[in-house]
Amino acid sequence: MLADSGSTLAFKCAFHIAPSLRDREPVGWAIEQLLQLAGWQGLCVTSSQEAGISYSRLAPTGAVTLPCAGADAWAKLTGSKPVTVDGLVVPSAAVVSEGGLQRIDPVLTTYWFLTGQHESTDGVLQKPGVPGKGIAKWGLLDRPTVDHLAEQLRQQLLASGAVGPASPHWPEGKSWCFCLTHDCDRLHRYRPLGYLREVPIEWKSNGPLSAGMKLGRSAVSAIMKLKSKDPYLGSWESWIAFERELGIRSASYVATWNRLDANSSPSDVGYTASRPQLRQFCENMIEGGWEIGLHSSINCWRYDRFDEETDRFTKCFGLSPKGSRSHHWSLNPDAHEQTLVSVAGAGFDYDSSMGMNEVHGFRRGTSCPYHPYDPTNGIRCGLWELPPVMMDDALYKAGDAHEIRRKIFRDRVDTVSRYGGCMTIDWHTDMLWNGHMDGLGMALLDEITLIASDASCWVATPRQIIDWCTDIRWRT
Ligand SMILES: [Zn+2]
Repeated sequence: MLADSGSTLAFKCAFHIAPSLRDREPVGWAIEQLLQLAGWQGLCVTSSQEAGISYSRLAPTGAVTLPCAGADAWAKLTGSKPVTVDGLVVPSAAVVSEGGLQRIDPVLTTYWFLTGQHESTDGVLQKPGVPGKGIAKWGLLDRPTVDHLAEQLRQQLLASGAVGPASPHWPEGKSWCFCLTHDCDRLHRYRPLGYLREVPIEWKSNGPLSAGMKLGRSAVSAIMKLKSKDPYLGSWESWIAFERELGIRSASYVATWNRLDANSSPSDVGYTASRPQLRQFCENMIEGGWEIGLHSSINCWRYDRFDEETDRFTKCFGLSPKGSRSHHWSLNPDAHEQTLVSVAGAGFDYDSSMGMNEVHGFRRGTSCPYHPYDPTNGIRCGLWELPPVMMDDALYKAGDAHEIRRKIFRDRVDTVSRYGGCMTIDWHTDMLWNGHMDGLGMALLDEITLIASDASCWVATPRQIIDWCTDIRWRT
């Protein structure tokens, strides 16, 4: 077996794909993702005799043969319906019947979920291209299906003796990961000039009454600004102070394209990244070990301006951002991964835009970083996706009292930790202001404190997680 051939092949697993599967690239990609989640780097080989894994409908040749739905199933994925096999919801095309038993094709299922094929089935997507409650029919609010399949594969491979030990999922002593991220959507609550500048846009978009209200907000803002400290910026400062006290670090995503810029959306942010106060604040964070990434604008993908928004970021903060998250999870709704190809092209190592607004869970079947694939063009996107598991708004909508929401949060953390996954949460920078979501941010601080004190949990920034997944975990 290849895994025994020397230390340079540690954590490698050779796999063979049946020649009858004509389009081998997506199949190979899906096997590689499954293996990576399981703890090995996949190596595609041409001889089935050399392989630890064989993906074929023919009689077993490799040490482990994966159930294979065959070329026809791969060719006719569209139209698949959710079916439950062994307690897992999978696409009907991935069900393999063998001797009266139903088995799951883990490769096709992985491809189906990680490339978001389920999102184009009836009732899943909400405008603008983000799944809503309808995603529940695919079981992804209950469990990370792809992670489940990867764990089964891990056990099968270890039991077979066909491979060496699996690479550790997380650093030594850690069995799961927690990643705290903040989107900066609102920097100042009191911004008299900002509101004043938006009056003409408001007039054009929503009429004179709305424009008049904006004018009024400008006047009230001017008074409040003189009277008190801004609660939005104060909330962000409180996050940093809280995290410093716990000894943990987070990432904040900052926008460089606002609603007054060309080809923007009225829902883009209202602040200007080049403000000296924000600059200084971010520089202090970077110095202290926090991560700052780009919060790309809603129309960024539409006007293909990732380079431009990134250049602005570099000019403002003096470094190239390595992570991107789009405002409103905005990716091309007809081809999400095409946007990720553009994100990679602008020099990003990872994206973290595969989140949801109305619900929380596992949008693409995993909580762990994976390498996304663009199914429309049949190419790898060239970066990592770190999928957010829960956004603050979604948790707020999930219950009508903070006690209930705390329980929901704990249950979600339990699911992720049970699978040894990565609990990436998106808590907005202004969430600690008591006027936001009835003070949900404050009500959840104890939960984060509890996680930070869990010795089995690795609390890390996205950047640290991506470095771990790219390189560190594969070193022997
Ligand atoms: Zn945002």
